[in-house]
Amino acid sequence: MNTRTDLIVVGAGIVGLAHAYEAQRRGLTVRVIERDWAPNGASIRNFGHACITAQAGDLLPIAYRSRAGWLAASKDAGFWGREAGALVVARSEVEMAVIEQLRAERGETVQVQTAAQVRERFGAGADPDPTIIGGGFMPDDLRVDPRTAAPTLGRWLAEQERVTIEWGTAVGGFSGNTVSTSRGDFEADKIIVCVGHDLDYLFPDVAAKYEVTRCSLQMALAPAPTGYDLESAVLSGTSMNRYDAFTLMPGHAALLSELTANTPDLIDMGANVMFTRRPDGTVLLGDSHVYSDTMPPFMEAEITDRLVREISTIIGRPLPIIQNWQGIYASSPQTSLLDEQVTSVIRTISVTSGIGMTLSFGIAAETLDSL
Ligand SMILES: Cc1cc2nc3c(=O)[nH]c(=O)nc-3n(C[C@H](O)[C@H](O)[C@H](O)COP(=O)(O)OP(=O)(O)OC[C@H]3O[C@@H](n4cnc5c(N)ncnc54)[C@H](O)[C@@H]3O)c2cc1C
Repeated sequence: MNTRTDLIVVGAGIVGLAHAYEAQRRGLTVRVIERDWAPNGASIRNFGHACITAQAGDLLPIAYRSRAGWLAASKDAGFWGREAGALVVARSEVEMAVIEQLRAERGETVQVQTAAQVRERFGAGADPDPTIIGGGFMPDDLRVDPRTAAPTLGRWLAEQERVTIEWGTAVGGFSGNTVSTSRGDFEADKIIVCVGHDLDYLFPDVAAKYEVTRCSLQMALAPAPTGYDLESAVLSGTSMNRYDAFTLMPGHAALLSELTANTPDLIDMGANVMFTRRPDGTVLLGDSHVYSDTMPPFMEAEITDRLVREISTIIGRPLPIIQNWQGIYASSPQTSLLDEQVTSVIRTISVTSGIGMTLSFGIAAETLDSL
């Protein structure tokens, strides 16, 4: 076996796979080394929402570059991807004000909606919360199915001439151009480490430098609600408390005060009340946020119940739950994107907030530009 390639990527989550996708597009040979037998981390446990418009600052152009990458990869590998946009529902004047402020800054990428327009987007047979007074539609956001996008991309990449994927192979260490694994050594000109929240296991000093910790989220799946067929991601007031584009608006302080007064339990659990519809109609519901270096696996039934009640009110349908799970991603108080050149050969890249699906292909394109 030829053990040398132009590039080694460690980790076959969406960040690692996006790097492999970009590398093979540019004619490089690439070996992906993944300890599991399929993508099984944050990349399959999320909402499948490429949340483009709600990014701000340096991350906004990366998100738009990622958008193009997602669309190209979806076409090449054949996974479900839709230019479905995102709908933010507003249930108070304070929430509407923040949407209108973002609209004033961003123009047509944020379309202010009346209550009737929001209701229409939910679908003819739907019956959303009567307290919705309007909203914002963000047409540039994308949707993919998180359970199939990365696995399908991984399988497609493995069939490409210039790509090898070593599944079930754990990386244990690095020396110069060599990666030591549970199945022997591999060499490459460049090595990119995309192990998400497990960065501390391989590079504890880098993780410590950026104060990387783990963030755990509770998620749930509901069967297809009758009459609901909206492919857009649906966000709420609590979402506007978590994405930079909204928190930078002058109305954010009033929004946070209102949320804290009216729904202190949602603020306490770090809620981002949002939901997305999978291609089979089932609905992904979430989420809450808890931070710890070692993440206890135990989920709080009360937290999921509260999130489900809130979404059931928005969607106007009872939501029986058929699955629950925990997702974990990397978090840093210093940056949302950790990109550290460890040696002249090795670079570590972890998205250190909950936007790795959004940014993955944009980050990969920038990394490959700079190799
Ligand atoms: C519940 C939830 C909802 C989210 N919703 C969204 C969303 O809607 N939109 C959005 O943009 N982002 C969202 N995120 C964030 C997003 O899912 C993550 O930022 C992204 O998936 C991180 O991708 P990754 O490839 O870095 O990590 P992962 O998918 O966790 O992949 C890392 C891979 O590295 C492998 N690995 C680790 N150590 C080794 C080793 N030593 N040797 C070999 N392999 C190794 C792991 O097995 C794993 O497969 C959400 C996250 C969660 C948890």
